[in-house]
Amino acid sequence: MKQQKNNRKIFIQKTGLALLAGISKPLVGFGNTAATKTATIKNGTTKPVVISTWDFGLKANEGAWKILQNTGNALDAVEAGVKITEADPNERSVGYGGRPDRDGKVTLDACIMDHQYNIGSVAALEHIKHPISVARAIMEKTPHVMLVGDGALQFALSMGFPKENLLIEASKKEYEEWLIKSEYKPKVNIENHDTIGLLALDTNGNLSGACTTSGMAFKMHGRVGDSPIIGAGLYVDNQIGAATATGHGEEVIRMTGAHLVVEFMRMGHSPEKACKKAVERIIDICKIRNKNIKDIQVGFIALNKNGEFGSFCIQSGFQYAVYNQDGNHLHKSAHAI
Ligand code: ASP
Repeated sequence: MKQQKNNRKIFIQKTGLALLAGISKPLVGFGNTAATKTATIKNGTTKPVVISTWDFGLKANEGAWKILQNTGNALDAVEAGVKITEADPNERSVGYGGRPDRDGKVTLDACIMDHQYNIGSVAALEHIKHPISVARAIMEKTPHVMLVGDGALQFALSMGFPKENLLIEASKKEYEEWLIKSEYKPKVNIENHDTIGLLALDTNGNLSGACTTSGMAFKMHGRVGDSPIIGAGLYVDNQIGAATATGHGEEVIRMTGAHLVVEFMRMGHSPEKACKKAVERIIDICKIRNKNIKDIQVGFIALNKNGEFGSFCIQSGFQYAVYNQDGNHLHKSAHAI
C-alpha cells in the first residue's frame, strides 16, 4: 500500500495532475475541474478547525474532529488525531510500522503544545507506539519539557506505556534491502520522511498542536529531526496562531520554522503568506550555504486564531488535510518551485 502511495507521490511530482486520482476526497483550490471542490465555508469563518499534513491527515483529522465536535478541547483533539497515524502500520513514516534507522531500530520523535505554552517532547524513543502520549505525559507530569532515548523509554515504562516491537515485517524487509547498498540519500516527496503535524482550534477558540514521526528512513542512530523540537517542528501561540512542519528536519531546525511562521502571522500576515515567507527564508539560507534548493523539501501548515488556514512548501507535491464545517478535504499546498 505504501509503495502505491510512494508511486503516487512521484507521479504527483512529475505531472502535477495525479492529485485528482487515488484520493478519497476532492481537493480544494485545484482549478476548475470536475473533481475540484471549492469550500462553501469561507476560510476563517468557522470553528472548530483541524488541519494536518499529508493525505494521512484525513484520517487523523477524523479522530480530532470527533473530540472537537463534542466541544472537546484542542489538546485532546490533537493527541487523539495523531494517535491514529501512529497506530497505523501502513503509514511507514510515523509510529508503529515506521521505517528504522541505519541500525535497524525504530526511533520516534514527537512533541505537543497547548494554548497555555505548555510543551512536552520526546526524541529517539524506542518501543513505544504512541510517542505523542509520552510527550504529553512529560508535559503534564514532569518538571521538564523533553526526554530522549533511554531516559524517555524508562519514563514511558514507569507511566505504564507498554513496551512493543515497532518494526513490522515490511519495514524490516525494506531495511534489509537498503543494507545491501547502505546509501543514505534523503529525497524529496517520496515519503522516506513524512511527519504528521496536526493543529486544532476548538469551539472555545483555543489552539493546540501535535507533531510525530519516525523521522528520515535509515537515519543515523540518534539523529533527531525538527519534529520534536518546539519552535522548529511545531509552535502554538494561542494569541496568534499555530504552525507545524514536514520535510527535511535539518533545514527546519536551522531557521526555527514553526516559530517563524507564527511570528510572521503576528506581524499580520495570513497563514499562507506566513508559511511562504518561512519557505523564502529557507531558500535564502540555501543560497548563502551554496546548497541546491531542488534537493530540499519542506512544507509548513498554519492555522490562526480566527480559524484561517494555509500552507506553503518548497516543491510541488505536498498536500494537507483540513476539517471544518464544510467537511474533511485535502488541499494542494502552494509551492515555491
Ligand atoms: N521532518 C521530519 C524529520 O526531519 C521528517 C518529515 O517530515 O519528512 O525527521
